Amino acid sequence: MSLRYYRNLITASQRACRLASSQRPLFSSIPIHCILPRLQPRAISTMTTSSFADTVVSAMRTLFPEVLADKAWDNTGLLLGQAQLSATKDDTPGTVLLTNDLTAAVVDEAIREKASIIVSYHPVIFRALKSLTAQDPMQAQLLRLIASGIAVYCPHTAVDAANGGLNDWLCDILVGDQPDLVAGRSVIEPITRTLPSELQGLGYGRKVQLNKPTSLAVLLKNLSAGLGNQRYMSVAVPQDSVADVNRTQSISSVAVCAGSGADMLKDSDAQLLVTGEMSHHYALRHVQLGQTVVTVFHSNSERQYLTQRMKPMLEKALGSSGKVIVSTTDRDPFEVIDVSKLA
Ligand SMILES: [Zn+2]
Repeated sequence: MSLRYYRNLITASQRACRLASSQRPLFSSIPIHCILPRLQPRAISTMTTSSFADTVVSAMRTLFPEVLADKAWDNTGLLLGQAQLSATKDDTPGTVLLTNDLTAAVVDEAIREKASIIVSYHPVIFRALKSLTAQDPMQAQLLRLIASGIAVYCPHTAVDAANGGLNDWLCDILVGDQPDLVAGRSVIEPITRTLPSELQGLGYGRKVQLNKPTSLAVLLKNLSAGLGNQRYMSVAVPQDSVADVNRTQSISSVAVCAGSGADMLKDSDAQLLVTGEMSHHYALRHVQLGQTVVTVFHSNSERQYLTQRMKPMLEKALGSSGKVIVSTTDRDPFEVIDVSKLA
């Protein structure tokens, strides 16, 4: 999750809206049929047949109820529908591709794998669109997906908040093969709007209370294994050297938030804060408060959930109607390099 990032986008969008309204008279007298292109209904059927993409969307809505998404700022759900290119229903098993982010490489992969739908954890459309052109990198991918008849579903904060969702998974991997180490788990920011009774109490971020003090080194090794043997992570400790990591013992409480967790974690009293990314001044404040912060890069805190949890959950829900694959090209834009080894 990246609340601050998306809030910035919303602010930019609101500025754009004010600009647009000040320019509105320019267009007000133009008949609408002069603005809209002439539709070519020849190639696209409006028949509603239940497709594999529809089945995937339905399964996702059951596994990660959309009502859990934070609609105050997030944009989730079926963000790109699938044009009905044929009036006849295709009964061959479909393919759904899971990815953390939608990039050109992931779209290449979806086309190559003949996927009919992509589940992209992060939203592929956030700001309102007034045009859809190939000049914008994301819009260019959307145009390719439309031309290929591939839908895109984006669950984002619904997965963050769900029972057994992304943040619950982060809690699980922190204790590795010692689930008994968890004395209790609580939601950091419960959803306050009205929810169905079976979802009440759910929300964003998690705090884990351990039933015995555990060394930071053990927790970091568990975290690394759960993230796919991630070798490097950033650690901010209250002491003055990273060498103190091995001496930092007695962690009894951990707060987690996948993605950009600074806002979510800022008032947490947990001894250890785990998230994808956190800016300098937030981290500095926590260190001054005696807390330890671990960051693993934004999407690295999210991506393995797709393989370890979402894929088997979807496979069970879809049965023989299609196959679920996880992108092999999706990756965090950042990686750590050893400059001394550069040519
Ligand atoms: Zn994120």
